[in-house]
Amino acid sequence: MWRSLISFLWQQPCPCCGRVSPKTICRDCERRLKAWEVQQRQRYWQGSLPLFPWGYYQQDLKRAIATMKYNNHPELGNLFGQWLARSWLEAKMAQHLPLQIVPIPLHRDKLQSRGFNQAVRIAQGFCRALELPFAPQGLIRQRATQSMFQLSLRERQANLENAFHLGKGLQRERWLLLCDDIYTTGTTAQTAAAVLREAGYKVLGIITVAVVTPNQLAGSTVKATSIKASVHSTTAP
Ligand SMILES: [Zn+2]
Repeated sequence: MWRSLISFLWQQPCPCCGRVSPKTICRDCERRLKAWEVQQRQRYWQGSLPLFPWGYYQQDLKRAIATMKYNNHPELGNLFGQWLARSWLEAKMAQHLPLQIVPIPLHRDKLQSRGFNQAVRIAQGFCRALELPFAPQGLIRQRATQSMFQLSLRERQANLENAFHLGKGLQRERWLLLCDDIYTTGTTAQTAAAVLREAGYKVLGIITVAVVTPNQLAGSTVKATSIKASVHSTTAP
């Protein structure tokens, strides 16, 4: 009886649909989100900066990521981090390597207006589930950058020039694994990895909640040159 009373008192609105739920999100939303889980991750785990995405940046998952960022639901970040951790374990990734997780940072202006960095929350969920160390301030975003979705590859690179600087708390003996919410063309991840590698750190790859598929990029206003480059950088950079 006590257990049912406690679970009743703990019920909160599901951030995705508003119905009360004893868990972070309701069972229906969880089922809908899990329909977008990536099945064949091997095709992304290759090249100079391999990618481990949890799901496709489509429909329910796309809306849930927007809810997390723009409707102030950082708890979704922790939940996505746990889902990533489960998939990481199931895929038996990097089992014998010492890892440290480094979230892609936000510029302080954006951090102030949003109140949290979604990449930090995702990394937190991931690290707690796998008992891994993470470096929330391993990288610092020095420059505010504009939204990248509609920029060409060259514009993206110019936009990110000198955007990242080395922060603190990084461990040289560990392999660094970057963490972000969405992977679009990989320019942000590549730029962040380059800063770490230039400073002599080993970077294994990047984990993200969602990946934008080449088809989605082709359908957006991103210019043709950047689409070719992004496909290239996803598969064989
Ligand atoms: Zn729901």
